[in-house]
Amino acid sequence: MKCRCCATRLDEPGLDNVFLDLGTAPPSNAFLLPAALSAPELHFPLKLLTCPQCLLVQVDEVQAHTQLFAPDYAYFSSYSRSWLVHAERYVDEARERLALDQRSLVVEIASNDGYLLQYVAARGIPCVGIEPTAGTAAVARSRGIETLVEFFGIGSARRFVAQRRRADLVVANNVLAHVPDLDDFVAGIAELLEPQGVATFEFPHLQRLVAQRQFDTVYHEHFSYFSLHVVRRVLARHGLRAWDVQVLPTHGGSLRVWAARDASRHPETASVHAVLAGEADAGMLAMDYYRGFQREADAVKNGLLEFLLQARREGRTVCGYGAAAKGNTLLNYAGVRPDLLAFVAEASPHKQGRHLPGSRIPVVAEAHLRSRRPDYVLILPWNLQDEISAQLAYIRDWGGRFVVAVPELAIS
Ligand SMILES: [Zn+2]
Repeated sequence: MKCRCCATRLDEPGLDNVFLDLGTAPPSNAFLLPAALSAPELHFPLKLLTCPQCLLVQVDEVQAHTQLFAPDYAYFSSYSRSWLVHAERYVDEARERLALDQRSLVVEIASNDGYLLQYVAARGIPCVGIEPTAGTAAVARSRGIETLVEFFGIGSARRFVAQRRRADLVVANNVLAHVPDLDDFVAGIAELLEPQGVATFEFPHLQRLVAQRQFDTVYHEHFSYFSLHVVRRVLARHGLRAWDVQVLPTHGGSLRVWAARDASRHPETASVHAVLAGEADAGMLAMDYYRGFQREADAVKNGLLEFLLQARREGRTVCGYGAAAKGNTLLNYAGVRPDLLAFVAEASPHKQGRHLPGSRIPVVAEAHLRSRRPDYVLILPWNLQDEISAQLAYIRDWGGRFVVAVPELAIS
């Protein structure tokens, strides 16, 4: 396999470039209907490699899109309230920074169910979403958000520009990591932008992933794991210059990069230098940095298993909350099954009544948690820990306690 950033071979013998090996796992969003439980389930190797040339951390093998984004793909962005707040703030900030108005055009790539563009439209700014998943796109359209159902790349960007116009702002937040062909994707964004236009990219920051042992954010559909150093290089290949970067708390620690084709309008900010210097100080420019992460992941896995086994010995009940992709990575790597975690409660009705892929733990509505009164609730999306523990504060009434597994096991 070749690096998806610089095409260096990643499988030469003796390279010592395995960042993380999680064995095999099913696609993390392949939730199972009850009828599927009697059928076999497809698993793929889940291994990350570091490119010794450009230091991009990436999934070993790209599976076909059709297999990973199955038609019943069940992720809808609008089911998290804190995520909606994040999206609305971003829209207000972008409008102010870029002076967007009714003459502007905003295009969002991977616009999901319109969770973000609804705030653009509400401010009278024309916008279009591009989204590969028909189910989420249909929800966006029902909200009045024009949405094209397709995978984005240079081909779709050229068609868009020929039929319509270029964009003043291209929003590519939390999609870069999911792009199988980085060059094609970034070339498409450069093509789509007005000469004075700006694109923003949000992505989980690899430096935080390592520091906080967030190995459960690794899954097949998450192809690339970025430092700012690597993202700058990828953008520069297509004439885009990163002129500002914001450090965000989302997804356990993300970066939002502001990039433009025209360098003269946007001088590079001090925060770009600060984040780059922070990465260099952490050792991210040398291969050694990337070689110790398996140990950290194993420590998290073992901590969770010890807790679950102890709870079982004591006759205590444990359930999960939040059927997110990261929960699936953690539960599958740890080999947790319904005997150790009876069910996972989840707000999204699209997942209720299904089973988690691999572990086959049932996904239920929150009402089930209320009636079963578990001793412990394992919060799987630890990035939403505050929101979820406030929402489920009533478990204190029966002495229930909250548990998170990352970065280390903590009971509160
Ligand atoms: Zn590379």
